[in-house]
Amino acid sequence: MEAISRREFFKIGGGVTAGALVFSTSGFEKVLAAPLKSFSLKKRIGEKTSICAYCAAGCGILVATEGNNLISIEGYPEHPINRGGLCSKAQSLYQLRTVNGQLNPRRLTKVLYRAPNSDRWDEKSWEWALGEIAKRIKKTRDDSWIEKDKDGNLVNRTEAVAQLGGSAHDNEECYLITKMNRALGMVYTETQARI
Ligand code: SF4
Repeated sequence: MEAISRREFFKIGGGVTAGALVFSTSGFEKVLAAPLKSFSLKKRIGEKTSICAYCAAGCGILVATEGNNLISIEGYPEHPINRGGLCSKAQSLYQLRTVNGQLNPRRLTKVLYRAPNSDRWDEKSWEWALGEIAKRIKKTRDDSWIEKDKDGNLVNRTEAVAQLGGSAHDNEECYLITKMNRALGMVYTETQARI
């Protein structure tokens, strides 16, 4: 059997559906029997692969863009996890960026910080946020350092800092994160993809 491309498959599928409608309805024959017009793209559309952000399955998606505009998101047929399929949650993925054709006003593009006991969020720079994270990890690690366990075994660890990864982390990122955790003496490392 001759192999057909994905685009050819959808073309044939669309033609079969239109044909079935012509035979099963009356009154709309003229409209439905009109020859199918091909849609010519006037501008180049870029497609990039990414991963659905909503759950631990980590399904692959194809994101179509034109300039800075998001045009569509669909399942990535060659992704080993979902083979092009997406669940109902993923139907709203495009809202992460666009709502009713406008940029989603709730999409966060800056670091926001709420100080202890404060009732508001303040904008901060990435430099400030990364410095704060490093500072707090160091202080917590120093304050909670365990050199020996109760039986006198040398353990050199902290049990006061934990790390939770996400399904969008790839193997290489997980490797680096785990290396960093172990170097810090962290023992509690977990990933959303396993929970
Ligand atoms: S498409 Fe559905 S199952 Fe797949 S990662 Fe997204 S939310 Fe999870």
